[in-house]
Amino acid sequence: MKITDLKCAVIGNTPVVRVVTDEGISGFGQIESSKPYLKPHVLFYREFILGLDPTDVERVMLSIRRLGGFKPWGSSVSAIEMALWDIAGKAAGIPAYKLLGGKIRDRVRVYKTGSPFPATGSTPEAYAESVKKAKEMEEGFSIIKHGVAFHSGMVADVPNYFYSEMQSGARYPNTGLLTERGFKHTVACVEAMKEALGDEVGLALDCGPGMTVIDAIRLAQALEPFNIMWLEDMLTGDYTPYVLADQYREVTRSTSTPIHTGEQIYLRQHFKDLFEKQAVNIVGPDPADVGGIAELKWVAEYANLHGILIAPHGVIDGLIGLAAHVQVAATLPQNYIALEYPSGSTDWWYDIVEGLPDPIVKDGFIDVWDAPGLGINFIEEAAKQYLPEGDEDFFD
Ligand SMILES: [Mg+2]
Repeated sequence: MKITDLKCAVIGNTPVVRVVTDEGISGFGQIESSKPYLKPHVLFYREFILGLDPTDVERVMLSIRRLGGFKPWGSSVSAIEMALWDIAGKAAGIPAYKLLGGKIRDRVRVYKTGSPFPATGSTPEAYAESVKKAKEMEEGFSIIKHGVAFHSGMVADVPNYFYSEMQSGARYPNTGLLTERGFKHTVACVEAMKEALGDEVGLALDCGPGMTVIDAIRLAQALEPFNIMWLEDMLTGDYTPYVLADQYREVTRSTSTPIHTGEQIYLRQHFKDLFEKQAVNIVGPDPADVGGIAELKWVAEYANLHGILIAPHGVIDGLIGLAAHVQVAATLPQNYIALEYPSGSTDWWYDIVEGLPDPIVKDGFIDVWDAPGLGINFIEEAAKQYLPEGDEDFFD
């Protein structure tokens, strides 16, 4: 089998990758809906993979993996990797999880990030209301994550939140020492959320990036009585193109609250310091940024060797991204906690694909399905109407 084409169409703001072969099998992958601008970046890799056998996934990856980077520059490589596993599974007539070593669980736990009920305002009451609504969702999520501190509106809404000039117009550009008022407000919002959730649902907090080491330690210690699932990305994260493992270690060694990072990190090599220095308790690589699903599996195994847990990031990875998550999550070792449940970027996304369970989430879990490859396919007649101008031939 040979790769004959690499295509990319932005469908509902989300770049979809299609790897085409000479045997009538295609594979699909997906990039976060926040990155429609990556289409030309996907197509940059076309010349590197044409003519290669897509079922030799690792050989294809050797030709393009070195041409990626931290978020967002690992997304294209990651989506191509997903598409290769999709092809390899379809060609063999087995689900991708079997090619990744086989599943060790029949259902995978997912966690819910605050949306679609973001806090309206930055009061403790608004935060409590937001997580309460998420708790009442019919999916029955057992872990809910919410943004606080630099990963929230608090920075702008609470006067004198921190000792620095408020920056706007960029994605979470703020960093600096918290004021006492800012610190107390953050703790008050967490307390309100915990009161709303009780001990039936775990609460995780996305906190930055942008906190200083000393504030990160103080916050993690102040929150110890609340049994938080994890504090995510306090120092680095999102689009930070580096890791700062030594600083994370300072924080992690100082508290019993679990410390989490890693959604922006590309490749297993960049997790090495975090693991070997015991710098965090939990990592959260995103299969659509880290280099793909086999890369995620490798990171999880290496984390497990070091007693570190994994909760993959993925809230805007879309429905093909969801399929990729489920395939790999089924195979991860027992340090797996839950994956961040991705939803379709628009409601109609659910009408243009087939293969997902209905309902998708039951009691906070997704049953692992057994269709070949990623096990999700486009309903082409339904999907075609959403192809943008210039990409009408995406499925041809
Ligand atoms: Mg995050």
